[in-house]
Amino acid sequence: MSGVAVPPDAVVVGAGIVGAACALELARAGLRVLVLDAGDVGGGTTAAGMGHLVVMDDSEEQFALTAYSVRLWRELAPSLPPECEFDPCGTLWIAADAAQLEAVRRKHEAYTARGVAAEVLDGAALAACEPALRAPLAGALLVPGDAVLYPPGAARHLLAEACRAGAVFRGGSRVDAIRPGAVVVGGRALPAGIVVNAAGAAAPELTPGLPIVPRKGHLAITDRYPGLCRHQIVELGYLQSAHEMTAESVAFNVQPRRTGQVLIGSSRELVGWDPATNRAVLGRMLERAVHFMPALAAASVIRVWTGFRPATPDKLPLIGPWEEMEGVWVAAGHEGLGITTSLGTARLLADLITGRTPAIDPAPYAPMRVLSAARRHG
Ligand SMILES: Cc1cc2nc3c(=O)[nH]c(=O)nc-3n(C[C@H](O)[C@H](O)[C@H](O)COP(=O)(O)OP(=O)(O)OC[C@H]3O[C@@H](n4cnc5c(N)ncnc54)[C@H](O)[C@@H]3O)c2cc1C
Repeated sequence: MSGVAVPPDAVVVGAGIVGAACALELARAGLRVLVLDAGDVGGGTTAAGMGHLVVMDDSEEQFALTAYSVRLWRELAPSLPPECEFDPCGTLWIAADAAQLEAVRRKHEAYTARGVAAEVLDGAALAACEPALRAPLAGALLVPGDAVLYPPGAARHLLAEACRAGAVFRGGSRVDAIRPGAVVVGGRALPAGIVVNAAGAAAPELTPGLPIVPRKGHLAITDRYPGLCRHQIVELGYLQSAHEMTAESVAFNVQPRRTGQVLIGSSRELVGWDPATNRAVLGRMLERAVHFMPALAAASVIRVWTGFRPATPDKLPLIGPWEEMEGVWVAAGHEGLGITTSLGTARLLADLITGRTPAIDPAPYAPMRVLSAARRHG
């Protein structure tokens, strides 16, 4: 822990990947930044995430932020240290039958029309590039620009870069409250020009009114089977599983790790903050994985864990000023895309704070939209 001689221009609450990325952008923009976390860097949802850097097309706004963010990750990739385990493996969105292949073709049109490279593979081409997948499958969309990395390693790197640019990090500092122009830690008010609430799924505890709920997910990781899985492979139905706020869903989603391990996802549940492994949901998730990749039936799963995605009602994050309290900014609510969109979020936030022109329209992510929506309905 190190001290700050003068009050910081910005206090960032939360050193997950979003807070770490925001700290870096703000420090590089010349602000004096203090980052506070109740625990350590990248120890919250970031440590539980899968690290798929993915362009997703659930909505135009989601597409814009994910495509922008993946571009920023690819620009950053050459400078990432090995601990980030960046792997430009691309994504395969797989189609089980002819109807899904039609959906793949539509997805292809949507991606290419928006400048994101993508290629339709037929069943034979898919089997050639992922021999462990069930056969026959109808085909897939290959998005070669997508990648994967190790999220806590990436968060640590971004925060270390922020500190190199002058930011100060204090772990083990739980913020009790956010006030106009200050945060309260251990009963003491620390003054700050602005406060950025980047507390992930816990953000509403500090900024009441933020419509963020924890959405639990399981992941499982296998022993080492080099070459078994070569791309991030996702079933087309994943998007529906992510979009619909049902009580429970699973979708096939596997990721090759640099170690040769296969990371298996994913599940979604609305059960509050209960971290316990739900054996029934986990069982369905693993069955789905074996259904698409039968070789996984013989693989040893060596660890299973759960984490909490910070979910919003409209599936878009909250990035920008919180006008209910002066000087408070929000960077939270990234659901299952916060590893991907951390860089786009941080750049947008810093653009808005410093008055630069953002590269993409920030309006769809404005936190105040949630209050306008609530007032419209109330
Ligand atoms: C199973 C699973 C799979 C996922 N897969 C992917 C994926 O493949 N790709 C992708 O892009 N995203 C994925 N995600 C989503 C991604 O992990 C999250 O969106 C992202 O980690 C959110 O980051 P964050 O910094 O907002 O939150 P967090 O990482 O939770 O960070 C918030 C920080 O705030 C701190 N904090 C909270 N309250 C306080 C307080 N009062 N005072 C001080 N500090 C506080 C916490 O200690 C924590 O460190 C996945 C998530 C899960 C659960």
